[in-house]
Amino acid sequence: TMPDIKGKVEFKDVTFSYDEDAMILNGIDFTANVGESYAIVGPTGAGKSTIINLISRFYNIDSGQILIDGVDINTVTIKSLRKQMGVMLQDSFIFSGTIMDNIRYGNREASNEEVIRAAKTVCAHDFIMGLENGYDTEVNERGSRLSAGQRQLISFARALLADPKILILDEATSSIDTETEILLQEGLAKLLKNRTSFIIAHRLSTIKNSSCIMYIDGGQIMEMGTHDEL
Ligand code: ATP
Ligand code: MG
Repeated sequence: TMPDIKGKVEFKDVTFSYDEDAMILNGIDFTANVGESYAIVGPTGAGKSTIINLISRFYNIDSGQILIDGVDINTVTIKSLRKQMGVMLQDSFIFSGTIMDNIRYGNREASNEEVIRAAKTVCAHDFIMGLENGYDTEVNERGSRLSAGQRQLISFARALLADPKILILDEATSSIDTETEILLQEGLAKLLKNRTSFIIAHRLSTIKNSSCIMYIDGGQIMEMGTHDEL
């Protein structure tokens, strides 16, 4: 099993294909340092989602190595690997139930107070208190009544409760109003503290606040550096 980790992530000359004939990732090589935030950008079909899916071992790579804290992820169980990471996909997962239950999802032992504290930390509390029944407001799977930005704030609170060392975020692409964008930016900054993170970034504010930007095209890292360097 994967021991508790600090959160260093290394790709060593990783190649990957979904089908044998079409190479998707070609020689991906980088070291992500503990606690730093990596923005992944690039055109559609570049391989961004594929890279982040490989970190939680949704697929097996063709060659190369992926290491976490120096341990090859193929040598540990998938369950123990995924326990160390929080994954937030573009369409934040909401199920039928209350807002409270949705944030608590996956952390059954969290108290109401802990849920509310997490929501406050990531700037989700105010919008939740604005709903008709606050934390007891019922939402359904399609997240009706919640905007894409609000769903993302719920997923931030959920991720904060889980407290993983590695965080993966595929940012929502839907249009988000300026007010919510400011909340997301603040909430995200709090959530990222002391974690290694990979964010497929669509918003300039996220890109600017990342410690490093990876520009992916054609399954390769074309450029890597800080916002000022690129
Ligand atoms: P986008 O910005 O549109 O989300 P992306 O950079 O995330 O694009 P990927 O989803 O990683 O791109 O896809 C990279 C390549 O792999 C594309 O050519 C895509 O068609 C292909 N691909 C993605 N998922 C699969 C799959 N499950 N089976 C086969 N091919 C796939
Ligand atoms: Mg994608």
